[in-house]
Amino acid sequence: MQRWNLLTKAIFRLKVTDNPAEFQALRRALKGRIGAVYTMGALHEGHLSLVSRARAENDAVVATLFVNPTQFAQNEDLSRYPRTLEHDLEAFERAGVSLLLTPTPETMYPSGYQTSITVEKVTQGLEGAHRPGHFVGVATVVAKLFNLTLPDRAYFGQKDAQQVVVVRQMARDLNFPLEIIVCPTVREADGLAMSSRNAFLTAPQRQAASVLYRGLQAAGEVYTRGERATARLIDAAYQVIAAEPLAEIDYIALNDPRTLAPIVEATDAPVLLSLVARIGTPRLLDNCLLPLELNNLQALTRLLGGT
Ligand code: AMP
Repeated sequence: MQRWNLLTKAIFRLKVTDNPAEFQALRRALKGRIGAVYTMGALHEGHLSLVSRARAENDAVVATLFVNPTQFAQNEDLSRYPRTLEHDLEAFERAGVSLLLTPTPETMYPSGYQTSITVEKVTQGLEGAHRPGHFVGVATVVAKLFNLTLPDRAYFGQKDAQQVVVVRQMARDLNFPLEIIVCPTVREADGLAMSSRNAFLTAPQRQAASVLYRGLQAAGEVYTRGERATARLIDAAYQVIAAEPLAEIDYIALNDPRTLAPIVEATDAPVLLSLVARIGTPRLLDNCLLPLELNNLQALTRLLGGT
């Protein structure tokens, strides 16, 4: 009997609902400073690092799990996106999340829905150029999730650096009263950035995938030796990745981390090196700030500035 009580307590510490209105009401009942984490599920240590940071800095953490259809193009992997709900519920519970929203596309975009948010300049390059409509989907869903979760602080991963810049711009332009915190990219032992899409890699592809990180490191080393010419920094990453037969480079780019404007000639101001490569089916993203020492706790948060 006693064991049963303990079990039910443990299970019900995390409140889960798929109903946005109910979630918002439960969220309003929470007291103190609230941190929020937004995910598409298939949780890994990268997601959980955001939760753990949010827990450390707030009185309670709320989270969302929603594979948002409007940020996937027709030809993209929406139906194949990994879904591991039971594992995710347990992971959120263990990580100390108080309240979780798991909405459906129908409750997020009910019949008659007709509003979307376009962030202009910072969505034009990089992923925006390769995935038309992607950032309209992202900005719109994040605005909705901000209103549903009402956080004091919202936590995002540097792994999706352009997403952070877009969300930051949207939050500033629309006067969302919250702080955006950018957390460092969590990596596997060989440097591969953790990603739900890594689950699609076969064993040889998984081995090859660390080449993205090695490419970033190569550019970082050249930068440390004093190189600032954009073409040479990009080429340092390119040479490493192009040498891997399983990798097909989509793009490698050097941008201002605040505005995402392409860098013509790097100065000593921090720059963002982004790269995307396909290893088999999955398109893998990675990035780093140069100089490499900046890829720590607060660099991108600081660079983007407060709301
Ligand atoms: P996703 O579920 O892929 O949409 O990611 C949800 C959040 O987790 C986003 O803010 C991501 O940037 C962040 N995230 C994803 N992978 C990582 C990682 N390897 N390290 C840190 N944050 C991550």
